[in-house]
Amino acid sequence: MNPVYLDVAVPVPLRRTFQYLAPADMNPAKLLPGTRVEVSFGRQKLIGILVSTSNTNAIDINKIKPALRIIDDQPLLDNVLFKLCVWAADYYQHPIGEVFHSAIPALLRQGDAIAQTEKVLVPLIKQFDETDFKRAPRQSALLKRLLSQPEGLSKAALDSYETTTATVRSIIAKELAHWDLKTVNISHFDSTNPQKSDMLALSEEQANALETAIKPGTQLLFGITGSGKTEIYLQAIDAILRQGKQALVLVPEIGLTPQTIERFTSRFNVPIFALHSSLTDKERLNAWRQSREQGAGIIIGTRSAIFTPMSKIGIIVVDEEHDASFKQIEGFRYSARDLAVFRGHQEQIPVILGSATPSLESLNNAVSGKYKLSKLTERPTKANVAHYQVIGTQHQRMDNSFSEPLFELIEQHLSAGNQVLVFLNRRGYSPVLICNGCGAIAACERCDARMTFHLTQNKLICHHCGASKHANRLCQPCGSRDVVPLGTGTQRLEETLLGRFADTNIIRIDRDSTRRKGEMERLTKEVMAGEPAILVGTQLLAKGHHFPDVTLVAIVDVDSGFYSSDFRAIEKMGQLILQVGGRAGREEKQGTVAIQTQFPDQPILKSLIEDGYEAFASSLLVERKLYDLPPYAFQAVLRAEATKNGVAMTFLHNLASSQNVLSEVSLQNQNSPLVSVLGPIPSTMEKRDGKYRAQLLISSSHRKSLNSTLSKIISLIENNKEQRMVRWSLDVDPIDLL
Ligand code: ADP
Ligand code: ZN
Ligand code: ZN
Repeated sequence: MNPVYLDVAVPVPLRRTFQYLAPADMNPAKLLPGTRVEVSFGRQKLIGILVSTSNTNAIDINKIKPALRIIDDQPLLDNVLFKLCVWAADYYQHPIGEVFHSAIPALLRQGDAIAQTEKVLVPLIKQFDETDFKRAPRQSALLKRLLSQPEGLSKAALDSYETTTATVRSIIAKELAHWDLKTVNISHFDSTNPQKSDMLALSEEQANALETAIKPGTQLLFGITGSGKTEIYLQAIDAILRQGKQALVLVPEIGLTPQTIERFTSRFNVPIFALHSSLTDKERLNAWRQSREQGAGIIIGTRSAIFTPMSKIGIIVVDEEHDASFKQIEGFRYSARDLAVFRGHQEQIPVILGSATPSLESLNNAVSGKYKLSKLTERPTKANVAHYQVIGTQHQRMDNSFSEPLFELIEQHLSAGNQVLVFLNRRGYSPVLICNGCGAIAACERCDARMTFHLTQNKLICHHCGASKHANRLCQPCGSRDVVPLGTGTQRLEETLLGRFADTNIIRIDRDSTRRKGEMERLTKEVMAGEPAILVGTQLLAKGHHFPDVTLVAIVDVDSGFYSSDFRAIEKMGQLILQVGGRAGREEKQGTVAIQTQFPDQPILKSLIEDGYEAFASSLLVERKLYDLPPYAFQAVLRAEATKNGVAMTFLHNLASSQNVLSEVSLQNQNSPLVSVLGPIPSTMEKRDGKYRAQLLISSSHRKSLNSTLSKIISLIENNKEQRMVRWSLDVDPIDLL
């Protein structure tokens, strides 16, 4: 028989597969793509994924090593998941072995079996003579049980029979039974009656949206906060479950709250598994198995849950599709939202992308007809949409970020017995400590960044590299003792509010105050109790929570969003204003959103508040089109960093000016370049964590041209010795250019 060669993707940072020889006794029909193979790689043993087989050797036969072991007797990844990984490796230009690696749970990467097994006690005899066991009634009883269940008894089953370990041991010693491994069967979830609690009667808008939502294809569900998007997800999932199919729900990192999970578990009668970061490897593998074998009806998870296998996937929901956490920003830099669309398309199932503030990419896809668009413009409940009130601060005397009109507004809402949420995007006490003597500002030694002052710890902490040091109130350069906080963070807001509203309960919710386990739940409960209070918080408060007694949301500083070098800053700020604003007046009470800005007449802010997100987004889209920015062009950023100053810049410069890359670029005609390469430029924060960083921006209005230019650049890098001096990474469809 001819030898069979295996192309195996091993978890190494190389953009290729490696050939191994299949075991000679292996039935070639069993060698299916997506199966795990153990191989020797250099001096290590690695577990890789079989990508393809062939009868021809790619290199000298004598150099091809035999595969050590075919681990699975069926592919670990089904057809579509396999295709998804292969596609993603190409699209994101990421090493295929690493892509597979990130798509499977840790224990499977280490070789655990696909199916769960358990130890069972199996009889080795067919019958026995009871008279031989007159003096051992326990052994006799156990043998009787075993013979009535020749497929074996699990430990749990044995325990329930009240047999003893000694009894089991004696029987094994007499060679009447032995321990064996048996596959644990997972039974399919019951789809006959998935609904636990009553469905709400839908509004007409909702009913239309639902009708579209359960048809194959991608739907952008664009509905204001509180318009009943989640209700659509629930009813669409209900319809899918009734067909015996499963649902996959992706939520943002900070959206996977107990409240979210509770909404699903109180509605449905089927097993639901939540995939979050605090699961153990074992729990994660269990959820993976349950999902794969249809034990689970619904999987809710963050980004990486997109790789969860489902033998009968029927729908994918991406909630808050605009959320940045769907994009991985390290290693394999994929967008879970975009992978969801791909997976759904391959499976020919519906995909719902829901948001009150959709990304411009998705809006554009809806406008162009690539996605179906359903809008929800009103709230089905009594809750009114919040009033927006802009407070111009240009002529106000400020008390640590609070203008007098804002203080008065807070006062009004508190004395009406309600709660107020004060939002700021910056944790800590104040951004910087400044010396009034010489103007020196404490900066991080490892980054081009200022350190953030944390009052309670009296520390300066760098939010970029984590470096921290004691906050010295004596200025080193000039000896002045007049070193004071400048600007504001959540801790300082809390302090200022305490000064003004001494009798009010002030609850700060940010990453610092919720670090301890259970603290978030405790604080949430305190808010839910409904007593008048001021909540001070960061983004952590913007999503997933439903605080019925909050009637005023105050956004103390929006201006930073309008003056960033990142072209997405305005889009993000607009989304944030509406998301945070959506926390105001969720029930019968009228909500108000107060926005403090030095520039109350900004047209873009006015458009957002007066005409709504769609008008705001449309005007941003016009601008993007004018400047050839996403979604009208596709971008990739090649980032490089090196310990020595200048090395990263030179590295990128050489790439950008290489003939190979330029030949692609030169296909351009003068007016509409096919691919443009911009830079290199030093990164916005050039020095970070002791490394000097630079980047190259590659963009094109043709996805294919971008992709082929990127492959060329990467093969140049991989054939270049200089690359050892730098650490580099490629980010396709980056969400920020910093
Ligand atoms: P979103 O996900 O768009 O923020 P939700 O689905 O959470 O909106 O709905 C907001 C509130 O309106 C919830 O309390 C929900 O129970 C309620 N709701 C949604 N749809 C209906 C409906 N058709 N009839 C009555 N109440 C509804
Ligand atoms: Zn000084
Ligand atoms: Zn730093």
